[in-house]
Amino acid sequence: MIVLGIESSCDETAAAVVRDGRVLLSNVIASQIKEHSKYGGVVPEIASRRHMEAIIPVILQALDDSGMELSDIEGIAVTRGPGLVGSLLVGLSVAKALAFSRKLPWVGVNHLEAHIASVFLSQNVPRFPFVALVVSGGHTNIYFVENFGVFAILGQTRDDAAGEAFDKAAKLLDIGYPGGMIIDRLAREGDRTLLSFPRAMRDSLDFSFSGVKTSLVVHVKKHGKPSTREELAHLAAGYQEAIVDVLVEKTLKAAELKSVSQIVVCGGVASNSRLREHFADRTAECGMDLFVPPPILCTDNAAMVAVVGNNLLGRGITDEFSLNAVSRWPLDATLSCR
Ligand code: ATP
Ligand code: MG
Ligand code: FE
Repeated sequence: MIVLGIESSCDETAAAVVRDGRVLLSNVIASQIKEHSKYGGVVPEIASRRHMEAIIPVILQALDDSGMELSDIEGIAVTRGPGLVGSLLVGLSVAKALAFSRKLPWVGVNHLEAHIASVFLSQNVPRFPFVALVVSGGHTNIYFVENFGVFAILGQTRDDAAGEAFDKAAKLLDIGYPGGMIIDRLAREGDRTLLSFPRAMRDSLDFSFSGVKTSLVVHVKKHGKPSTREELAHLAAGYQEAIVDVLVEKTLKAAELKSVSQIVVCGGVASNSRLREHFADRTAECGMDLFVPPPILCTDNAAMVAVVGNNLLGRGITDEFSLNAVSRWPLDATLSCR
């Protein structure tokens, strides 16, 4: 089935065409980062307005890049939540309009399930069941994934998401927005063993990143902001290592607990180079198989939405035009919402 995916949950307007949930025919992402960076975070009202401007050109570009006409599209998948409701409504409304006018089946997709499903666009795919770490700007969750739509949550953050911990650190250090990629790049020049930051809740599968953030605040109060690039790089490397370390160790622990040997890591923070490296080393040591999508499919995109849509539509699951966007939609409730 050829599915058009649409994503507008946060600050990326995206559309993609995917064949049979496996073959990526096009993947267009219009990022609003520039517009939000001067505010140091996503401004919901601005995001909705930019989505409205970008959505049609982005869909047309995705069709064009895939070599398909609208008449070749057999189904539509759109992110329904979780996310900013004003932003979600833009994608959802366009999806409904297209589905209505072309008489196409369509379905609303959970953004977190989509992040996990992004792994199926790679050559090498995991078999069910597996353990998945979804680590992004709004979430840091570990799931036991038995099938499409069948999840059990094993661990989650009690406060900030890992991506937020990166973004807030970069804001504090005044090095730009969004912070994840900036800290990642800086940390490559630094020594991760020079400065040590706390690793919280070692005995639980839940996460907490407020301590590591406070520890950075205290460090900056005591020593001031780094005055050289070298000092900044060491600070970034030490801070990043504390976050990466707990993400890797808790995910491995969850896999052991569930007796599975396959681990999926996805979401925006999964594009972090040190996280990928550390996961690769530790899973190899433990004899586990690691599946991480390429960085462009880790951050928000519509291809991952089309993968879930392909599965749902393939099982005959479609939505009514009365379907609304939802800001919160825990993955455990994915099935009960239908
Ligand atoms: P959610 O998926 O929870 O709704 P979101 O959609 O805003 O949130 P994503 O687009 O999946 O999140 O991820 C964005 C987050 O990923 C930001 O916090 C950003 O700093 C972080 N990020 C992106 N690249 C990197 C990187 N290389 N290293 C660390 N963090 C990164
Ligand atoms: Mg984003
Ligand atoms: Fe996301």
